[in-house]
Amino acid sequence: MDLRFSDADEAFRREVAAWLAENLAGEFAPLRGRGGPGDESALLDERRQWEGRVAAAGWACVGWPTACGGRGLTLPQQMIFYEEYARAGGPGRIGHIGEHLLGPTVIAFGTPAQKARFLPPIVRAEEIWCQGYSEPNAGSDLANVQTKAVLDGDHWVITGQKIWTSGAQWSDWCFVLCRTEPAAPSHQALSYLLVPMRQPGVEVRPIVQMTGDSEFSEVFFDGARTAADHIVGKPGEGWKVAMGTLAFERGASTLGQQLNFQNELDQVVAAAKQHGVNADPVLRQRIADAWIGLRIMRFNAFRTLGDPDRAELGREALITKLYWATWHRTLGKLAMDVLGPAGEITAGAPYELTALQRLFLFSRSDTIYAGTNQIQRNIIAERALGLPREPRPGK
Ligand SMILES: Cc1cc2nc3c(=O)[nH]c(=O)nc-3n(C[C@H](O)[C@H](O)[C@H](O)COP(=O)(O)OP(=O)(O)OC[C@H]3O[C@@H](n4cnc5c(N)ncnc54)[C@H](O)[C@@H]3O)c2cc1C
Repeated sequence: MDLRFSDADEAFRREVAAWLAENLAGEFAPLRGRGGPGDESALLDERRQWEGRVAAAGWACVGWPTACGGRGLTLPQQMIFYEEYARAGGPGRIGHIGEHLLGPTVIAFGTPAQKARFLPPIVRAEEIWCQGYSEPNAGSDLANVQTKAVLDGDHWVITGQKIWTSGAQWSDWCFVLCRTEPAAPSHQALSYLLVPMRQPGVEVRPIVQMTGDSEFSEVFFDGARTAADHIVGKPGEGWKVAMGTLAFERGASTLGQQLNFQNELDQVVAAAKQHGVNADPVLRQRIADAWIGLRIMRFNAFRTLGDPDRAELGREALITKLYWATWHRTLGKLAMDVLGPAGEITAGAPYELTALQRLFLFSRSDTIYAGTNQIQRNIIAERALGLPREPRPGK
């Protein structure tokens, strides 16, 4: 297996790096390093403007086919793009859910009319999306969603509650998994609706997380409406479409994040030197382990990429989420142990956290969202290893 990028890909890397160096400057220079985990609400207006700059230069939705308004990059090129973006300290992408979750879903399952309506505003960063799956009693057990939608003439009317909805408070649209076929078994009872957030029947209540920021919210639908044709797939096909979205969420969109992780590991190493603990033999070993884990992640990404021309991810991708989430959570713990008592101290009101404190607190959630570690292990057992299916309630 060749673990290097081709000469053409390296030339592409230089093109990306040059564009970022030239454009993440001037008015956009303060955005470097902002808007990441635990810092999601930072400089929202400025980041929206930045998204416009990215889109105007054709660097939005780089993995989408050109016919859908994307740049049509291969998987290795996408990885290079996200690596260079992280290396340059590019700000957190507020259009992430539209670009990586809803967009690919509409491309795979949507009608031509839906593609024409919903894809261009994502590419232009004009419409921000959020993901309305989880409910108080439907997280891992997603098929248990209770939010209902009924057809009323040419509109769906939606009633229910979602929770942990990332970015809901600054989103224009939400893709909502809801129950439309009450008589059908749970997996055939669901539909995947595209619902505008800015309407009287939608109330968003941000939840303050332990990072101090409100990355997610509760969302209440009380007679919210959306057009009858804003349904992806047919009524009752919502489970299939929702699983398609989850595959995108756990797949290619995470391939390039190792550079972000490398930046964080570099900060941990710098902190170890600053705090004089770099000679501690146990911490040294844990730092070395973190470095090794990151190399393994990178090599596995190459393995996942496989054939450079391949557009889809193989079954190797099933371990990706489990591995990176566990590694990242461990890095957060290491950061705190390196900092020692200083890790518990902030500079005083308004108690702004340091990057390493945010890393520790936010990375606790990595092994929960987009499928918990336990659920990922179930998936690996059933789909990759062919072990017997886990007994499901009521079966
Ligand atoms: C930061 C963050 C952002 C999020 N953003 C979104 C979002 O934008 N949109 C959205 O819809 N959701 C979002 N979520 C919700 C996330 O998808 C759920 O938290 C996750 O699916 C787990 O569901 P739960 O919290 O209800 O926990 P539960 O499903 O109640 O799980 C509790 C515990 O039981 C374990 N467990 C459950 N079932 C099994 C099983 N069958 N086998 C073994 N163990 C099991 C779990 O692994 C977990 O440890 C987000 C969550 C976080 C933390």
